[in-house]
Amino acid sequence: LAKEDGKNGYRFFSKEVKTQSIERLSLESALRRALEREQFSLNYQPKVDMETGQITGVEALLRWSHPDLGNISPAQFIPLAEETGLIVPIGRWVVKEACVQAMAWQRRGLLPVSMAVNLSPRQFADEHLLQDVDEALAASGMSPVLLQLEVTESMMMRNVGRALKVLDAIQSRGIRLAIDDFGTGYSSMSLMKHFPIDTIKIDRSFVRDLPQDSEDQAIAQAIISMGKALGMTVVAEGVENAEQEAFLRTHGCDEMQGFLIAKPLPAKQMAELLRPVELSVAPPLQPEADPA
Ligand code: C2E
Ligand code: MG
Ligand code: MG
Ligand code: MG
Repeated sequence: LAKEDGKNGYRFFSKEVKTQSIERLSLESALRRALEREQFSLNYQPKVDMETGQITGVEALLRWSHPDLGNISPAQFIPLAEETGLIVPIGRWVVKEACVQAMAWQRRGLLPVSMAVNLSPRQFADEHLLQDVDEALAASGMSPVLLQLEVTESMMMRNVGRALKVLDAIQSRGIRLAIDDFGTGYSSMSLMKHFPIDTIKIDRSFVRDLPQDSEDQAIAQAIISMGKALGMTVVAEGVENAEQEAFLRTHGCDEMQGFLIAKPLPAKQMAELLRPVELSVAPPLQPEADPA
C-alpha cells in the first residue's frame, strides 16, 4: 500500500507535461549514447551547376537511426543536441566521416566533388573547431579546398569580431565557406563584404513559391545579383520542379540543390551518381545538318 502511494507522487504533474518531459529525457539519454552505439550515418545530397548539369558538390546530412524509436529527423534531434552541447562531439564525427567518405570516392576514381558540412552555432563557438577540422583533414588526407563549411547569418552576427577571426582562419587553410539558409537571418550588408564567403545558399522558403509569388521573385533576384556582384557562387536550395529551375536559370543562379535533382542519399547510392561518364559508349557526334 505504501508503495502505491509513493508511485502516485507523479500526479503533481499534469499528464502532458510528464509525457513531454519523459520523452525529452529519454530522447536526450538516447542521444547521449547514439555516437558510441554507431547509430548515426550521413546522407549526401548533390548540388549541380545550372548550365552544365554537372554535380559540383555534395552536402552531408546527418541521420539518426534508433533501434526502437526508428529514424529521428534532424529537425527533432539537432536542436536537442545543440541545447545539450552534444552537437560538439557529434559534429566532430560528422566532419571526420564526411572527409573520409569524400576521399574514399576520390580513390575509387569517382568525379571529384566538394564536400559541404553544416555547422551549428555551438560548434561555431567551440574553441576546438579548427583543431577538429584540421584533424579530420589530416586523418582522411582530403585537400582543404574540397571541404566547404556551411554557417548561418546569425552565427556570424552574434559576435562579429570572433566570427571574422574564425572565418579568416578557415579561409587561410583554403577551406570554402557557404552561408546556409540565406535571407532568413539578420545580416549586415556592409559586413557581408568583410566575411570571406564563397557561396550563398538561397533559403528554400524563397524558392518554394517560385515562379508565381512576386515577392519571392524579387527576393531571389536580389540575392542572386548581390551574390554575383560580390563574386560569390549562388546556390538555390529546395528546388523541386522545372518551373522553379527555369526561373532560377533565367535569373543567373549558378547552382541548385533539391528533390528535382536528388534527395539526400546513402553513400552507396550517391556514388552511383558520381560515376564518370563512359566516353567510349557515347554515340559519335553527327555533323549538324545545314538548314535547307
Ligand atoms: P540545411 O542545411 O538547410 O539542409 C537542407 C534540408 O532541406 C535537408 O533537411 C534536406 O533534406 C532538405 N531538402 C533538400 N532538398 C529539398 C527539397 O527539394 N524540398 C524539401 N522540402 N526539402 C529539401 P534535413 O536533412 O532534414 O536537415 C535539416 C537541417 O538540419 C539542415 O538544414 C541543417 O541545418 C541541419 N543538419 C543536418 N545535418 C546536420 C549536421 O551534420 N550538423 C548540423 N550542425 N546540422 C545539420
Ligand atoms: Mg546546409
Ligand atoms: Mg541549415
Ligand atoms: Mg539550408
